[in-house]
Amino acid sequence: MLNLSKECIRKLNEPSIWIRFSKLANELKAVNLGQGFPDWSPPEFYLESLLRNVTNEKANHQYTRAYGSMNLVNSIIKNHQKYFNFNLTENNVLVTSGGIGGLYNTITSFIDKNDEVIVIEPFYDSYYPISSYSYGRIIGVPLIPPKRREKNEYKALLSSGEYTSKMRISSKIKDNWEFDFKKFEESLSERTKLIIFNSPNNPTGKIYTNEEYKEITQIILKKSPNAIILSDEVYEHIYFDLNKEFPRIANMKGLENRTLTLSSAGKIFSATGVRIGWLIGNEDLIRTVSQIHSQTAFCLYDPIQNLISDCLNEAEKEYKGFANYYDWYRDNYNKSRTHMMYHLINTKNIFQEKEYNLKYYLPEGGYFIVGDISNSIASKDHRIKGEENRSYTKDVQFSVNLAYEKGVVTIPLSVFYTPENKMIGENYVRLAYCKRPETIESAFKNLKI
Ligand code: PMP
Repeated sequence: MLNLSKECIRKLNEPSIWIRFSKLANELKAVNLGQGFPDWSPPEFYLESLLRNVTNEKANHQYTRAYGSMNLVNSIIKNHQKYFNFNLTENNVLVTSGGIGGLYNTITSFIDKNDEVIVIEPFYDSYYPISSYSYGRIIGVPLIPPKRREKNEYKALLSSGEYTSKMRISSKIKDNWEFDFKKFEESLSERTKLIIFNSPNNPTGKIYTNEEYKEITQIILKKSPNAIILSDEVYEHIYFDLNKEFPRIANMKGLENRTLTLSSAGKIFSATGVRIGWLIGNEDLIRTVSQIHSQTAFCLYDPIQNLISDCLNEAEKEYKGFANYYDWYRDNYNKSRTHMMYHLINTKNIFQEKEYNLKYYLPEGGYFIVGDISNSIASKDHRIKGEENRSYTKDVQFSVNLAYEKGVVTIPLSVFYTPENKMIGENYVRLAYCKRPETIESAFKNLKI
Protein backbone atom coordinates (compact mmCIF):
# COMPACT_ATOMS: atom_id res chain seq x y z
CA MET A 1 0.00 0.00 0.00
CA LEU A 2 1.40 3.39 -0.94
CA ASN A 3 1.97 5.83 1.85
CA LEU A 4 -0.54 8.46 0.81
CA SER A 5 -1.14 11.68 2.68
CA LYS A 6 -4.29 11.98 4.80
CA GLU A 7 -5.48 14.63 2.39
CA CYS A 8 -5.15 12.31 -0.56
CA ILE A 9 -6.99 9.53 1.26
CA ARG A 10 -9.82 11.94 2.09
CA LYS A 11 -10.24 12.61 -1.61
CA LEU A 12 -10.05 8.96 -2.59
CA ASN A 13 -12.95 8.08 -0.30
CA GLU A 14 -14.18 4.65 -1.35
CA PRO A 15 -15.35 3.19 -4.65
CA SER A 16 -18.66 4.77 -5.61
CA ILE A 17 -21.91 2.83 -5.55
CA TRP A 18 -21.77 2.70 -9.37
CA ILE A 19 -18.42 0.95 -9.36
CA ARG A 20 -19.47 -1.48 -6.59
CA PHE A 21 -22.82 -2.38 -8.12
CA SER A 22 -21.71 -2.51 -11.78
CA LYS A 23 -19.01 -4.97 -10.71
CA LEU A 24 -21.63 -6.96 -8.82
CA ALA A 25 -23.97 -7.01 -11.85
CA ASN A 26 -21.12 -8.24 -14.08
CA GLU A 27 -19.91 -10.88 -11.64
CA LEU A 28 -23.39 -12.31 -11.10
CA LYS A 29 -24.45 -11.76 -14.73
CA ALA A 30 -27.49 -10.11 -13.20
CA VAL A 31 -30.02 -7.93 -15.05
CA ASN A 32 -28.77 -4.43 -14.38
CA LEU A 33 -31.66 -2.15 -13.37
CA GLY A 34 -29.08 -0.26 -11.34
CA GLN A 35 -27.04 2.09 -13.45
CA GLY A 36 -29.07 4.70 -15.34
CA PHE A 37 -28.10 4.25 -18.95
CA PRO A 38 -30.43 3.31 -21.81
CA ASP A 39 -29.49 -0.09 -23.25
CA TRP A 40 -30.79 0.82 -26.71
CA SER A 41 -28.89 2.54 -29.51
CA PRO A 42 -28.94 6.28 -30.16
CA PRO A 43 -31.23 7.43 -33.04
CA GLU A 44 -30.13 6.66 -36.64
CA PHE A 45 -29.42 10.34 -37.35
CA TYR A 46 -26.90 10.28 -34.48
CA LEU A 47 -25.08 7.23 -35.89
CA GLU A 48 -25.08 8.62 -39.44
CA SER A 49 -23.78 11.98 -38.27
CA LEU A 50 -21.11 10.30 -36.12
CA LEU A 51 -19.74 8.49 -39.14
CA ARG A 52 -19.93 11.58 -41.33
CA ASN A 53 -18.14 13.80 -38.83
CA VAL A 54 -15.31 11.46 -37.92
CA THR A 55 -14.58 10.45 -41.52
CA ASN A 56 -14.81 13.98 -42.91
CA GLU A 57 -11.43 14.75 -44.53
CA LYS A 58 -11.68 18.32 -43.34
CA ALA A 59 -12.42 17.33 -39.74
CA ASN A 60 -10.42 19.20 -37.13
CA HIS A 61 -8.56 16.77 -34.91
CA GLN A 62 -6.67 19.44 -32.96
CA TYR A 63 -7.57 21.77 -30.11
CA THR A 64 -10.59 23.90 -30.75
CA ARG A 65 -12.35 26.83 -29.04
CA ALA A 66 -12.12 26.01 -25.33
CA TYR A 67 -15.65 27.12 -24.43
CA GLY A 68 -17.32 25.10 -27.18
CA SER A 69 -16.96 25.05 -30.96
CA MET A 70 -19.02 27.85 -32.49
CA ASN A 71 -20.91 25.32 -34.54
CA LEU A 72 -22.22 23.58 -31.44
CA VAL A 73 -22.67 26.79 -29.43
CA ASN A 74 -24.83 28.26 -32.21
CA SER A 75 -26.97 25.10 -32.35
CA ILE A 76 -27.41 25.20 -28.58
CA ILE A 77 -28.51 28.83 -28.78
CA LYS A 78 -30.90 28.10 -31.65
CA ASN A 79 -32.32 25.08 -29.87
CA HIS A 80 -32.53 26.46 -26.31
CA GLN A 81 -33.48 30.13 -26.84
CA LYS A 82 -37.17 29.21 -26.75
CA TYR A 83 -36.81 27.76 -23.24
CA PHE A 84 -35.47 30.92 -21.62
CA ASN A 85 -36.92 34.39 -21.00
CA PHE A 86 -33.56 36.10 -21.58
CA ASN A 87 -31.52 36.54 -24.73
CA LEU A 88 -28.76 33.97 -25.36
CA THR A 89 -25.43 34.76 -27.04
CA GLU A 90 -22.19 32.75 -27.21
CA ASN A 91 -21.18 34.36 -23.89
CA ASN A 92 -24.06 32.60 -22.14
CA VAL A 93 -22.97 29.07 -23.09
CA LEU A 94 -20.13 26.80 -21.97
CA VAL A 95 -19.72 23.34 -23.53
CA THR A 96 -18.50 20.94 -20.82
CA SER A 97 -17.16 17.44 -20.53
CA GLY A 98 -20.56 15.80 -20.03
CA GLY A 99 -23.09 16.91 -17.46
CA ILE A 100 -20.61 15.97 -14.76
CA GLY A 101 -18.02 18.41 -16.17
CA GLY A 102 -20.62 21.17 -15.77
CA LEU A 103 -21.27 20.13 -12.18
CA TYR A 104 -17.57 20.01 -11.36
CA ASN A 105 -16.81 23.39 -12.95
CA THR A 106 -19.70 25.10 -11.20
CA ILE A 107 -19.25 23.67 -7.74
CA THR A 108 -15.48 24.17 -7.63
CA SER A 109 -15.78 27.70 -9.05
CA PHE A 110 -18.13 28.99 -6.38
CA ILE A 111 -17.28 26.95 -3.28
CA ASP A 112 -14.42 27.70 -0.88
CA LYS A 113 -13.69 26.25 2.52
CA ASN A 114 -16.79 26.17 4.77
CA ASP A 115 -19.09 27.73 2.16
CA GLU A 116 -22.50 26.14 2.33
CA VAL A 117 -23.99 24.14 -0.52
CA ILE A 118 -27.70 23.34 -0.30
CA VAL A 119 -28.79 20.09 -1.94
CA ILE A 120 -32.34 18.78 -2.12
CA GLU A 121 -32.45 15.12 -1.05
CA PRO A 122 -32.47 12.58 -2.59
CA PHE A 123 -29.86 14.01 -5.00
CA TYR A 124 -27.49 12.79 -7.72
CA ASP A 125 -24.63 11.48 -5.59
CA SER A 126 -21.77 13.35 -7.35
CA TYR A 127 -22.83 16.69 -5.82
CA TYR A 128 -21.47 15.49 -2.49
CA PRO A 129 -17.88 14.45 -3.31
CA ILE A 130 -17.39 17.39 -5.68
CA SER A 131 -18.49 19.86 -2.98
CA SER A 132 -16.25 18.17 -0.43
CA TYR A 133 -13.19 18.54 -2.72
CA SER A 134 -13.57 22.30 -2.12
CA TYR A 135 -14.17 21.75 1.62
CA GLY A 136 -17.72 23.01 1.20
CA ARG A 137 -20.33 22.25 3.86
CA ILE A 138 -23.14 20.26 2.30
CA ILE A 139 -26.58 20.79 3.80
CA GLY A 140 -29.39 18.48 2.73
CA VAL A 141 -33.05 19.45 2.59
CA PRO A 142 -35.04 16.22 2.19
CA LEU A 143 -38.13 16.04 -0.01
CA ILE A 144 -41.14 14.60 1.82
CA PRO A 145 -41.85 11.14 0.35
CA PRO A 146 -45.31 10.36 -1.08
CA LYS A 147 -47.70 8.20 0.92
CA ARG A 148 -47.71 4.44 0.22
CA ARG A 149 -50.70 3.63 -1.98
CA GLU A 150 -52.72 0.50 -2.38
CA LYS A 151 -52.12 -1.52 -5.53
CA ASN A 152 -55.68 -0.93 -6.77
CA GLU A 153 -55.04 2.78 -7.14
CA TYR A 154 -52.27 2.02 -9.65
CA LYS A 155 -54.22 -0.77 -11.30
CA ALA A 156 -56.83 1.79 -12.35
CA LEU A 157 -54.14 3.60 -14.37
CA LEU A 158 -53.57 0.72 -16.78
CA SER A 159 -55.95 -0.78 -19.29
CA SER A 160 -56.64 -4.39 -18.38
CA GLY A 161 -55.28 -7.42 -20.22
CA GLU A 162 -51.88 -8.52 -21.42
CA TYR A 163 -49.08 -5.99 -21.81
CA THR A 164 -48.66 -4.56 -25.31
CA SER A 165 -46.11 -2.01 -26.46
CA LYS A 166 -49.01 0.33 -27.38
CA MET A 167 -50.07 0.53 -23.73
CA ARG A 168 -49.37 3.85 -21.90
CA ILE A 169 -49.94 4.29 -18.19
CA SER A 170 -52.22 7.18 -17.31
CA SER A 171 -50.84 9.79 -14.94
CA LYS A 172 -54.12 10.43 -13.13
CA ILE A 173 -52.49 10.11 -9.73
CA LYS A 174 -49.49 12.16 -8.74
CA ASP A 175 -46.97 10.56 -6.40
CA ASN A 176 -45.66 13.87 -5.24
CA TRP A 177 -42.30 14.16 -3.48
CA GLU A 178 -43.16 17.37 -1.66
CA PHE A 179 -40.76 20.25 -1.28
CA ASP A 180 -40.23 21.22 2.36
CA PHE A 181 -40.35 25.03 2.18
CA LYS A 182 -39.96 25.45 5.94
CA LYS A 183 -36.84 23.30 6.16
CA PHE A 184 -35.46 24.99 3.04
CA GLU A 185 -35.92 28.44 4.58
CA GLU A 186 -34.32 27.32 7.85
CA SER A 187 -31.30 25.95 5.97
CA LEU A 188 -30.51 29.12 4.01
CA SER A 189 -28.34 31.95 5.31
CA GLU A 190 -25.73 34.44 4.14
CA ARG A 191 -23.22 31.54 4.25
CA THR A 192 -25.15 29.77 1.46
CA LYS A 193 -23.07 30.06 -1.70
CA LEU A 194 -24.70 27.50 -3.98
CA ILE A 195 -28.14 25.87 -4.16
CA ILE A 196 -28.50 22.82 -6.40
CA PHE A 197 -31.84 21.80 -7.91
CA ASN A 198 -32.43 18.83 -10.18
CA SER A 199 -35.59 18.59 -12.26
CA PRO A 200 -36.66 16.02 -13.40
CA ASN A 201 -35.00 14.60 -10.33
CA ASN A 202 -32.72 11.60 -10.22
CA PRO A 203 -33.91 9.36 -8.55
CA THR A 204 -37.54 10.35 -7.76
CA GLY A 205 -38.64 11.77 -11.15
CA LYS A 206 -39.98 14.88 -9.38
CA ILE A 207 -40.59 17.85 -11.65
CA TYR A 208 -40.77 21.20 -9.87
CA THR A 209 -43.80 23.31 -10.78
CA ASN A 210 -43.64 27.02 -11.54
CA GLU A 211 -45.63 27.60 -8.32
CA GLU A 212 -42.99 25.75 -6.29
CA TYR A 213 -40.20 27.67 -8.04
CA LYS A 214 -41.95 30.99 -7.31
CA GLU A 215 -42.12 30.26 -3.60
CA ILE A 216 -38.55 28.93 -3.60
CA THR A 217 -37.39 32.14 -5.33
CA GLN A 218 -38.99 34.33 -2.67
CA ILE A 219 -37.17 32.38 0.04
CA ILE A 220 -33.82 32.58 -1.76
CA LEU A 221 -34.15 36.33 -2.36
CA LYS A 222 -35.07 36.87 1.30
CA LYS A 223 -32.48 34.59 2.94
CA SER A 224 -29.55 34.22 0.50
CA PRO A 225 -29.82 36.90 -2.20
CA ASN A 226 -26.18 36.36 -3.23
CA ALA A 227 -26.36 32.59 -3.68
CA ILE A 228 -25.78 31.01 -7.08
CA ILE A 229 -28.32 28.45 -8.33
CA LEU A 230 -27.24 25.38 -10.26
CA SER A 231 -30.21 23.79 -11.98
CA ASP A 232 -29.33 20.30 -13.13
CA GLU A 233 -31.81 19.63 -15.96
CA VAL A 234 -30.05 16.75 -17.71
CA TYR A 235 -33.40 14.90 -17.99
CA GLU A 236 -35.13 18.05 -19.34
CA HIS A 237 -37.00 16.25 -22.15
CA ILE A 238 -38.22 13.26 -20.13
CA TYR A 239 -41.59 14.27 -18.67
CA PHE A 240 -44.98 12.76 -19.31
CA ASP A 241 -47.84 14.84 -17.96
CA LEU A 242 -46.98 18.46 -18.54
CA ASN A 243 -49.45 20.31 -20.65
CA LYS A 244 -47.44 23.49 -20.35
CA GLU A 245 -43.75 24.32 -20.81
CA PHE A 246 -41.20 22.40 -18.73
CA PRO A 247 -40.62 24.78 -15.77
CA ARG A 248 -37.12 26.23 -15.43
CA ILE A 249 -35.90 28.04 -12.33
CA ALA A 250 -33.66 30.24 -14.52
CA ASN A 251 -36.83 31.99 -15.73
CA MET A 252 -37.86 33.09 -12.22
CA LYS A 253 -37.78 36.85 -11.75
CA GLY A 254 -34.76 37.74 -9.62
CA LEU A 255 -32.86 34.51 -10.36
CA GLU A 256 -32.21 35.01 -14.12
CA ASN A 257 -28.73 36.35 -13.48
CA ARG A 258 -27.89 33.96 -10.66
CA THR A 259 -28.73 30.61 -12.29
CA LEU A 260 -26.69 28.17 -14.34
CA THR A 261 -28.73 25.50 -16.15
CA LEU A 262 -27.12 22.18 -17.02
CA SER A 263 -27.91 19.93 -20.03
CA SER A 264 -26.38 16.65 -21.23
CA ALA A 265 -26.17 15.46 -24.85
CA GLY A 266 -25.63 11.92 -23.53
CA LYS A 267 -29.10 11.94 -22.00
CA ILE A 268 -30.80 13.68 -24.94
CA PHE A 269 -29.44 11.29 -27.57
CA SER A 270 -29.28 8.10 -25.47
CA ALA A 271 -25.48 8.00 -25.76
CA THR A 272 -24.16 8.48 -22.23
CA GLY A 273 -20.59 7.80 -23.44
CA VAL A 274 -20.46 10.89 -25.66
CA ARG A 275 -19.36 13.20 -22.80
CA ILE A 276 -20.78 16.49 -24.05
CA GLY A 277 -22.84 18.74 -21.81
CA TRP A 278 -23.43 22.48 -21.54
CA LEU A 279 -24.15 25.21 -19.06
CA ILE A 280 -26.36 28.17 -19.89
CA GLY A 281 -26.52 31.34 -17.82
CA ASN A 282 -25.43 34.89 -17.12
CA GLU A 283 -22.18 35.75 -18.89
CA ASP A 284 -20.26 36.62 -15.72
CA LEU A 285 -21.15 33.23 -14.24
CA ILE A 286 -20.22 31.47 -17.48
CA ARG A 287 -16.89 33.33 -17.65
CA THR A 288 -16.12 32.23 -14.08
CA VAL A 289 -16.87 28.53 -14.61
CA SER A 290 -15.03 28.61 -17.94
CA GLN A 291 -11.75 29.15 -16.10
CA ILE A 292 -11.93 25.81 -14.30
CA HIS A 293 -13.08 24.15 -17.52
CA SER A 294 -10.05 25.54 -19.37
CA GLN A 295 -7.77 23.98 -16.73
CA THR A 296 -9.47 20.58 -16.73
CA ALA A 297 -11.07 19.48 -20.00
CA PHE A 298 -9.79 22.58 -21.88
CA CYS A 299 -11.82 21.68 -24.97
CA LEU A 300 -13.88 18.80 -26.36
CA TYR A 301 -13.12 16.89 -29.55
CA ASP A 302 -14.32 18.97 -32.49
CA PRO A 303 -15.86 16.16 -34.65
CA ILE A 304 -17.93 15.09 -31.64
CA GLN A 305 -19.07 18.66 -31.02
CA ASN A 306 -20.13 18.81 -34.68
CA LEU A 307 -22.00 15.54 -34.19
CA ILE A 308 -24.05 17.04 -31.34
CA SER A 309 -24.58 20.24 -33.29
CA ASP A 310 -26.01 18.25 -36.22
CA CYS A 311 -28.16 16.19 -33.86
CA LEU A 312 -29.64 19.25 -32.13
CA ASN A 313 -30.65 20.58 -35.55
CA GLU A 314 -32.02 17.21 -36.66
CA ALA A 315 -33.98 16.73 -33.42
CA GLU A 316 -36.27 19.63 -34.33
CA LYS A 317 -37.52 17.84 -37.45
CA GLU A 318 -40.37 15.37 -37.80
CA TYR A 319 -39.30 11.96 -36.48
CA LYS A 320 -40.94 8.52 -36.84
CA GLY A 321 -44.44 9.96 -37.14
CA PHE A 322 -43.92 12.47 -34.28
CA ALA A 323 -43.68 16.27 -34.67
CA ASN A 324 -40.01 16.09 -33.62
CA TYR A 325 -37.44 13.76 -32.04
CA TYR A 326 -38.23 14.97 -28.50
CA ASP A 327 -41.90 13.92 -28.77
CA TRP A 328 -40.84 10.46 -29.96
CA TYR A 329 -38.19 10.24 -27.23
CA ARG A 330 -40.71 11.14 -24.51
CA ASP A 331 -43.14 8.58 -25.83
CA ASN A 332 -40.41 5.95 -25.94
CA TYR A 333 -39.57 6.58 -22.27
CA ASN A 334 -43.26 6.52 -21.42
CA LYS A 335 -43.45 3.13 -23.10
CA SER A 336 -40.62 1.79 -20.89
CA ARG A 337 -42.12 3.39 -17.78
CA THR A 338 -45.45 1.74 -18.59
CA HIS A 339 -43.79 -1.61 -19.22
CA MET A 340 -42.07 -1.66 -15.85
CA MET A 341 -45.14 -0.33 -14.01
CA TYR A 342 -47.22 -3.03 -15.74
CA HIS A 343 -45.05 -5.75 -14.23
CA LEU A 344 -44.88 -4.11 -10.82
CA ILE A 345 -48.67 -3.77 -10.72
CA ASN A 346 -49.98 -6.75 -12.65
CA THR A 347 -47.63 -9.70 -12.44
CA LYS A 348 -46.98 -11.87 -9.41
CA ASN A 349 -43.51 -10.99 -8.22
CA ILE A 350 -41.37 -11.15 -5.11
CA PHE A 351 -41.92 -7.45 -4.36
CA GLN A 352 -45.35 -8.53 -3.09
CA GLU A 353 -43.79 -10.86 -0.51
CA LYS A 354 -42.38 -10.08 2.94
CA GLU A 355 -38.67 -10.54 2.24
CA TYR A 356 -38.49 -8.13 -0.71
CA ASN A 357 -41.63 -6.12 -0.02
CA LEU A 358 -41.56 -3.06 -2.25
CA LYS A 359 -44.18 -0.37 -2.90
CA TYR A 360 -43.46 1.63 -6.00
CA TYR A 361 -44.24 5.23 -6.92
CA LEU A 362 -45.21 6.48 -10.37
CA PRO A 363 -42.49 8.88 -11.57
CA GLU A 364 -43.38 12.12 -13.39
CA GLY A 365 -40.18 12.12 -15.43
CA GLY A 366 -36.56 10.95 -15.66
CA TYR A 367 -35.18 7.40 -15.96
CA PHE A 368 -36.20 5.82 -12.62
CA ILE A 369 -38.88 4.28 -10.40
CA VAL A 370 -38.34 4.52 -6.64
CA GLY A 371 -39.61 1.72 -4.39
CA ASP A 372 -40.37 1.92 -0.66
CA ILE A 373 -38.91 -1.16 1.06
CA SER A 374 -39.62 -0.18 4.67
CA ASN A 375 -41.82 -3.27 5.22
CA SER A 376 -39.28 -5.75 3.83
CA ILE A 377 -37.53 -8.14 6.17
CA ALA A 378 -34.20 -9.57 5.02
CA SER A 379 -33.48 -13.18 5.93
CA LYS A 380 -30.04 -13.37 4.25
CA ASP A 381 -26.89 -11.31 4.59
CA HIS A 382 -25.07 -11.62 1.29
CA ARG A 383 -21.97 -9.48 0.86
CA ILE A 384 -20.28 -7.99 -2.21
CA LYS A 385 -16.88 -9.66 -2.62
CA GLY A 386 -14.30 -7.86 -0.46
CA GLU A 387 -17.02 -6.33 1.76
CA GLU A 388 -17.36 -9.29 4.14
CA ASN A 389 -16.76 -7.20 7.25
CA ARG A 390 -18.74 -4.19 6.24
CA SER A 391 -22.08 -3.40 7.86
CA TYR A 392 -24.89 -2.75 5.42
CA THR A 393 -27.89 -0.47 5.76
CA LYS A 394 -31.34 -1.94 5.00
CA ASP A 395 -31.43 -0.67 1.39
CA VAL A 396 -27.91 -1.93 0.61
CA GLN A 397 -28.67 -5.34 2.11
CA PHE A 398 -31.95 -5.49 0.13
CA SER A 399 -30.15 -4.67 -3.15
CA VAL A 400 -27.25 -7.07 -2.54
CA ASN A 401 -29.58 -9.93 -1.52
CA LEU A 402 -31.79 -9.29 -4.56
CA ALA A 403 -28.74 -9.41 -6.85
CA TYR A 404 -27.50 -12.68 -5.36
CA GLU A 405 -30.85 -14.41 -4.92
CA LYS A 406 -32.78 -13.14 -7.95
CA GLY A 407 -30.15 -11.84 -10.37
CA VAL A 408 -31.55 -8.30 -10.56
CA VAL A 409 -29.56 -5.22 -9.57
CA THR A 410 -31.25 -2.17 -7.99
CA ILE A 411 -29.58 0.83 -6.37
CA PRO A 412 -29.94 1.65 -2.65
CA LEU A 413 -31.22 5.16 -2.05
CA SER A 414 -29.15 6.00 1.04
CA VAL A 415 -26.30 7.06 -1.31
CA PHE A 416 -28.55 9.88 -2.53
CA TYR A 417 -28.66 11.46 0.94
CA THR A 418 -26.19 13.37 3.12
CA PRO A 419 -24.77 11.35 6.06
CA GLU A 420 -27.13 13.29 8.38
CA ASN A 421 -30.25 12.15 6.52
CA LYS A 422 -29.06 8.80 5.23
CA MET A 423 -31.62 6.99 7.42
CA ILE A 424 -34.43 8.33 5.21
CA GLY A 425 -32.87 6.76 2.12
CA GLU A 426 -32.40 3.41 3.85
CA ASN A 427 -36.10 2.70 3.20
CA TYR A 428 -35.92 3.01 -0.58
CA VAL A 429 -34.29 1.53 -3.68
CA ARG A 430 -34.14 2.77 -7.29
CA LEU A 431 -34.99 0.80 -10.43
CA ALA A 432 -33.91 2.13 -13.83
CA TYR A 433 -36.63 1.71 -16.46
CA CYS A 434 -34.56 3.15 -19.34
CA LYS A 435 -34.20 -0.42 -20.60
CA ARG A 436 -35.22 -2.43 -23.68
CA PRO A 437 -38.40 -4.53 -23.44
CA GLU A 438 -36.22 -7.69 -23.38
CA THR A 439 -34.28 -6.39 -20.38
CA ILE A 440 -37.46 -5.53 -18.46
CA GLU A 441 -38.95 -8.93 -19.37
CA SER A 442 -35.87 -10.83 -18.22
CA ALA A 443 -35.75 -8.89 -14.93
CA PHE A 444 -39.37 -9.76 -14.16
CA LYS A 445 -38.84 -13.35 -15.24
CA ASN A 446 -36.22 -13.55 -12.48
CA LEU A 447 -38.52 -11.80 -10.00
CA LYS A 448 -41.57 -13.95 -10.72
CA ILE A 449 -43.14 -16.10 -7.98
N1 PMP B 1 -26.90 15.02 -13.29
C1 PMP B 1 -27.73 13.99 -13.06
C2 PMP B 1 -28.96 14.23 -12.25
C3 PMP B 1 -27.46 12.72 -13.59
O1 PMP B 1 -28.29 11.71 -13.34
C4 PMP B 1 -26.28 12.54 -14.35
C5 PMP B 1 -25.90 11.21 -14.95
N2 PMP B 1 -26.42 10.10 -14.40
C6 PMP B 1 -25.45 13.65 -14.56
C7 PMP B 1 -25.79 14.87 -14.02
C8 PMP B 1 -24.18 13.53 -15.36
O2 PMP B 1 -24.46 13.58 -16.72
P1 PMP B 1 -23.38 13.08 -17.79
O3 PMP B 1 -23.56 11.62 -17.96
O4 PMP B 1 -23.69 13.86 -19.02
O5 PMP B 1 -22.05 13.42 -17.23
